[in-house]
Amino acid sequence: MNLELSLFNVAIVIAIYESFHAYLFYKSREIEKKGRISIRILNNEEENAIALNSFFFRNTIVFLSNEINEKILRHEEGHLKQPNYIYAFLLLVAALLPLSYIIAVPAVFIGKFLLWKMERDADLYAYRLYNVKYESDVFRPKSRIERLKAWIFDTHPPDYMRKIEEYYDKK
Ligand SMILES: [Zn+2]
Repeated sequence: MNLELSLFNVAIVIAIYESFHAYLFYKSREIEKKGRISIRILNNEEENAIALNSFFFRNTIVFLSNEINEKILRHEEGHLKQPNYIYAFLLLVAALLPLSYIIAVPAVFIGKFLLWKMERDADLYAYRLYNVKYESDVFRPKSRIERLKAWIFDTHPPDYMRKIEEYYDKK
């Protein structure tokens, strides 16, 4: 039986994911409370934020920088409203992996798709409720390789996609 191995894998994923969120939570400090949502800052240089949506850390948005960016806030709020598909998926893959390691291959693509869907949903949430569109000075790369790289190495849909009008169309 591989049950022990499955449980072990699941425990590892939970431990890593939750401790990453714990780190962000305890390293940051709360500067605002919006309803149930705690907004915190981490005082780093980076202009980005992470929505905490795990078992132990919920309804929390941590800005890596030292101030709130309203546009990023709307996007992260969208993440708090959605189920954490990618976490659920990671747990599923961790549990199934001992049955057959070959599932790692399709899992990468499904995981990528789930991330893409979650990011786009959060972008659409910000757009629908607050009319916030993602802004970027990145243009669509001319070369196909560059476009492919933008898709593969970014956890979000590429910047050049997120800023165009069509991205915010319903379908
Ligand atoms: Zn996002």
